[in-house]
Amino acid sequence: MSPFQNAMLQLDKAAKLMGLKKEKLEKLKNPKKIFSVKIPVVMDSGKTVKFTAFRVQHNNNRGPYKGGIRFHPNVSLNEIKALSFWMSIKTAAVGIPFGGGKGGVIVNPKKLSKIELEKLSRGYMRAFYKNLGPRIDVPAPDVNTTPQIMDWMADEYGKLTGKSQPGVITGKSIKAGGSLGRGTATANGGFFILQELVKKMKVSPKNLTVAVQGFGNAGANMADLLFHAGFKIVAVSDSQTALADQTGKGFDSHLIEKIKKSHGRVDVCTCQKISCACKNHKHLPVQKILEQPCDILVLAALENQITKANAKKIKAKVILELANGPIAPEADKELGKKGIIVVPDVLANAGGVTVSYFEWYQNIKKQKWPLAKVKKELKDTMIKAFNEIGALAQKYDTDLRAAAFISALKKITK
Ligand code: NAD
Repeated sequence: MSPFQNAMLQLDKAAKLMGLKKEKLEKLKNPKKIFSVKIPVVMDSGKTVKFTAFRVQHNNNRGPYKGGIRFHPNVSLNEIKALSFWMSIKTAAVGIPFGGGKGGVIVNPKKLSKIELEKLSRGYMRAFYKNLGPRIDVPAPDVNTTPQIMDWMADEYGKLTGKSQPGVITGKSIKAGGSLGRGTATANGGFFILQELVKKMKVSPKNLTVAVQGFGNAGANMADLLFHAGFKIVAVSDSQTALADQTGKGFDSHLIEKIKKSHGRVDVCTCQKISCACKNHKHLPVQKILEQPCDILVLAALENQITKANAKKIKAKVILELANGPIAPEADKELGKKGIIVVPDVLANAGGVTVSYFEWYQNIKKQKWPLAKVKKELKDTMIKAFNEIGALAQKYDTDLRAAAFISALKKITK
């Protein structure tokens, strides 16, 4: 099933539970605006290549459209529509004054030179700038887009409008008006929720094992937070490698991070000259990380990772969705039957957009918050949303995902 179909099934379930009126439901099924263009880029070879790019503006009932820009070869309009819808739910679920939007370009940025990447990023802003702005639609980073890309886009917007307006985009570098704590915000937000959940479950992190799928911004920072809090990381993966610990001690997140930086993959074996490396860890087929025995499974890669095909094989007791849409709705049902607690994406990864909101606020008000304030505000926002959603889950006798949707839909349709 496509990501947008998945998203609509989630919407239907929550709408039915809360008795949302049909006209309101139908409105939410269609984004308000969809833009699609071809961005011409003169490559280093002198040849011009046209890249397909999208911006989808789903809903702005509660504030400017808000959502990242993804650079990936598998980007499709269907995926961007789903992601923009989830942004509307997410911003409302955590109670920040934004709506939902999303953008993407069909490209493998790893195959572009830095100059080509800059041209594409500036080209994206030139293509869409009339429909973007601090009070209209505020993009941010997503898969394969970085603070440097945000800086280029913000700079281009300033040139096009004749006025520097850093609030047009978030996730910028600190020197270009970014917020302290934005780089680690998604992982941090998910971590605050996990800590709260573990506290409620009355278990010590030392007695909990974790598998982390995906080792990019969200996954690597999460692994680091978990490692420092004493959780035992028993498996990690990226798009090329999956490794399970065989020592019983768990992985050191610093070592994995070091190897990922130097070799581009989380493969301790090929990168470290440990004579008997293979004794300490086991290589798994990449998707098998999902089925590893562990207490907590962190999904921090892409969508549709747990489907009907593998849901029965999941052994974790808690799943934290740092990625967007990593569990298909039919798999959700299966996980529910097995008593697995799923902390849904619209809550678990909302730390990123929450600190994006803090960045936007600081830009608009010309303020600079210290890191401690950013973290405190983030923690308060995440825990408040988690408790509200937990209470709704009890009230409607449903799972956290449907409860998060109900919380958001009540605010959006008010
Ligand atoms: P990223 O590009 O930094 O990292 C993605 C990681 O996933 C990489 O390590 C990649 O190798 C890995 N990956 C890809 N396919 C995989 C597979 N099949 N198995 C295992 N690993 C795989 O991206 P990110 O920013 O960390 O985003 C990851 C997810 O989190 C995405 O779904 C994104 O939408 C979501 N998210 C990110 C943020 C943020 O602030 N970064 C905020 C909200 C949601």
